[in-house]
Amino acid sequence: MGETRFAIPQDLTDDEFGLVIAGGGISGLSAALLYQQRAGRDRKILILDNHDDFGGHAKRNEFTVDGQLLLCHGGGQTISSPASYSPVSAKVLKDIGIDTDPFDEYFDQDYFSSRNLGTDLYFGSEQYGKDVLCPNIFGGYSGEDNLDNLVFDVATYPISDETKAALIRLMTSETDYLGGKSHAEKLDIHKVVCAQPSLMHSFGMDFPVSMGGYDYTSESGQPTVLHGTWCPAVPDQGLSNIEQHKQGRRDLFAMSFDDFEDKIVPQLSGALSGGGFDPGRDIAGITVNRWPHGYAYEYTELYDDPSFGPDKGPHLVARKQIGRISIANSDANAYAYVDGAIDAADRAVNEQLTA
Ligand SMILES: Cc1cc2nc3c(=O)[nH]c(=O)nc-3n(C[C@H](O)[C@H](O)[C@H](O)COP(=O)(O)OP(=O)(O)OC[C@H]3O[C@@H](n4cnc5c(N)ncnc54)[C@H](O)[C@@H]3O)c2cc1C
Repeated sequence: MGETRFAIPQDLTDDEFGLVIAGGGISGLSAALLYQQRAGRDRKILILDNHDDFGGHAKRNEFTVDGQLLLCHGGGQTISSPASYSPVSAKVLKDIGIDTDPFDEYFDQDYFSSRNLGTDLYFGSEQYGKDVLCPNIFGGYSGEDNLDNLVFDVATYPISDETKAALIRLMTSETDYLGGKSHAEKLDIHKVVCAQPSLMHSFGMDFPVSMGGYDYTSESGQPTVLHGTWCPAVPDQGLSNIEQHKQGRRDLFAMSFDDFEDKIVPQLSGALSGGGFDPGRDIAGITVNRWPHGYAYEYTELYDDPSFGPDKGPHLVARKQIGRISIANSDANAYAYVDGAIDAADRAVNEQLTA
C-alpha cells in the first residue's frame, strides 16, 4: 500500500461540523447518533476511521462456498444479555432497528443435541507425541454417579498417571478453592487463561442462527465455518496477567498470515483427519481476524489492584475530558461489551454538550 500524505487544514472546520469523531466503531457511531438526537438532526458530523470499513471490533466474515453464503463473527459475537443494558444502550439498539425478542426463533437451541454433536478435547502431537481426540470431561461430568465415566474418560488422555489422578481429584473434590469469597465475589471471577503452547485453544462451529434470509448449515454434506480462538499468553514465566496480555499482543503483531496458516492446517488435520478430514479438499478458505486488544481489559481481583473497579482505577484518568475532546470507547469504561461502548459514547456526548 502506498503512503498518502494529506495537507494540514488551513481553516478550522468548526463551522461545518458540530462533532468530529475519531473511530467509527460502535462507540463512535453511537456517539454520532446520540449527538444528533440531543443537539439536533441538522448538526453535521465527521467520522474518521483509519480502516477501510466502519464497525471496529464488531465485524463479520463472509464466505461463499459452492454458491452458499457462510457467515461467521469476525469480532463482537452477540448482543449479550440485552435485558441488563442501560436505558441509553437499550434505546440505541431500538433506535437503529435491532429487535432482540425473536432470539428463540432465530437461534436453533436444539441444533447440536438433535444431531448428537458434542465437544471433544484434542491433544496435539506437537505437545503430546501423537494426535488424540478424547471425551471432554469439562462439559459433561456431574456428580458421583458419573465417577466411573470420569475415570474411564480421563484414562484416554495422553498425560501421566499422576496428572490423571490430580485431574480426577480436582473434578471430584469438595474443596472450595475460592473459600472465603462471597457468592457474588466468586461469580465475578469469570476469566480463565488457558495456556496452550500451539495455536487455537478451541475451534468449532459458530452459533446456529438463521435469520433475514440467511440459513445456517443444516446438512452434514454442506459447507460450514469453523471458528477458532487463540488468546496468546506467556505462561510459566512468572509474568502477571497484564504482562502476559502485553507480550501476547506483541507476538500477535509479529505473526504473518502464513504463520497462522502453517499452524492452523496441521492442527485441524491432527484433530479431524481420523474422521476423514482432508485439508486440501475440505478447506475452502481461511480468514484471520487479528484483534490486538480484543476485549477491553476488565479488572479482576485475582490479579489487579483491589482498589480498581468499574468506577475507580486508571481508566478514569485516561478518559478524562480535555476541553473539547472527550474519550468514548469500551476501553474507557474498562468493560468489554457493546453496551460498554454505547454507555461510554453517552457520557462523552454529554460531556461535550454541557462543556
Ligand atoms: C472476538 C471478539 C468477540 C466479541 N464478542 C462480544 C460479544 O459477544 N458481545 C459483546 O457485547 N461484545 C463483544 N465483543 C466486544 C465488542 O465487539 C466491543 O466492545 C465493541 O465493538 C467496542 O467498540 P468500540 O467502538 O468501543 O471500539 P472499536 O470497535 O475498537 O472501535 C474503534 C474504532 O477506531 C478506529 N481507529 C483506531 N485507531 C484509529 C485512528 N488512529 N484514527 C482513526 N480511527 C481509528 C478503529 O478502526 C475502529 O473502527 C467482542 C470483541 C471481540 C474482538
